[in-house]
Amino acid sequence: MEEKIFDTVIIGGGPAGYSAALYAARAGLKVLVLEKFSAGGQMTETPSIENYPGIDEACDGFTLGFKMKSAAERFGAVSQQTEVLSAELTASPKKIVTDIGDFYSKTVIIATGARHRHLGLADEEKLIGRGVGYCAACDGMLYRGKTVAVVGGGNSAASDALLLSKICKKVYLIHRRDTLRAEKIYHEPLMRAENLEFIWNSTVESLEYEAKLKGANIRKVTDGSSRNIELDGLFISIGRTPESDMFVGQLTLDASGYITADETTKTNIDGVFAAGDVRSKPFRQIVTAASDGAVAAHFAEEYISRN
Ligand code: NAP
Repeated sequence: MEEKIFDTVIIGGGPAGYSAALYAARAGLKVLVLEKFSAGGQMTETPSIENYPGIDEACDGFTLGFKMKSAAERFGAVSQQTEVLSAELTASPKKIVTDIGDFYSKTVIIATGARHRHLGLADEEKLIGRGVGYCAACDGMLYRGKTVAVVGGGNSAASDALLLSKICKKVYLIHRRDTLRAEKIYHEPLMRAENLEFIWNSTVESLEYEAKLKGANIRKVTDGSSRNIELDGLFISIGRTPESDMFVGQLTLDASGYITADETTKTNIDGVFAAGDVRSKPFRQIVTAASDGAVAAHFAEEYISRN
């Protein structure tokens, strides 16, 4: 067990996790990053990162994720691909249970991010990869020259619809209200896209399919009327759910399930920090996640020095 006691175990290998690892390793801490799939987290779904300082046009999220991982490993952080099953955060040392064994640590930085929200339609899950998707940047090219719809009215739906309008023959943007939540910067390009049609005040009621998706039944919420549209693809872009389920009962979460922590990233448990998209915060971006990671590492080091 001795060799498995770390100064800090970081759960999650996205920008928050690897930024925390970089700062903690550079502070001389013994650092372990537990990542579920690959370095980068949600960033890996983005083909071109344009809003992270110092990154040139050619950088995709996958590459940036690996650069962040290498930077942390250069200073001695260790990464392990595994799924974390549970955590005993008030124990001393804190215990992290994974599918490859248990790890122990003086501090824990939670950087588990958030996952795409589903509409909850009948057969939605069954059709994932057969017409239903959650990431236009990942799967959009599969629908080149075809007809697709995007559901949602936030920044993600707006940027997905714009991306798809450059690839697909026809794009519907289905939103449950008559105004977008998305920032103004998206409005004009969306209005200008000739192959994009808004379907306002509407929700998707059901999906039509044989082997693959064929269409969707849309209901207008203002008068209850229905219509059917033929579709090759449906991208559901209605926000994300934080990956915080395993901490219920230990950490304080907000009404949406994000871990409550202020700008210090300190949670209600001493020595436990929440960084990146899983933290309750007003603006979720790569740069704000990376910033959280640095702050969490700083306070983890302070906690270890104090104790
Ligand atoms: P979001 O801002 O929460 O928007 C979710 C959208 O989906 C809203 O328009 C919401 O409708 C709609 N919606 C939610 N549940 C629904 C349901 N069950 N049925 C139909 N529609 C539903 O989520 P997001 O767009 O994924 O953005 C998340 C965060 O990432 C935001 O902070 C955003 O600014 C950020 N982001 C930034 C960029 C960028 O800077 N370029 C790009 C993408 C995302 P209502 O409007 O009616 O609530």
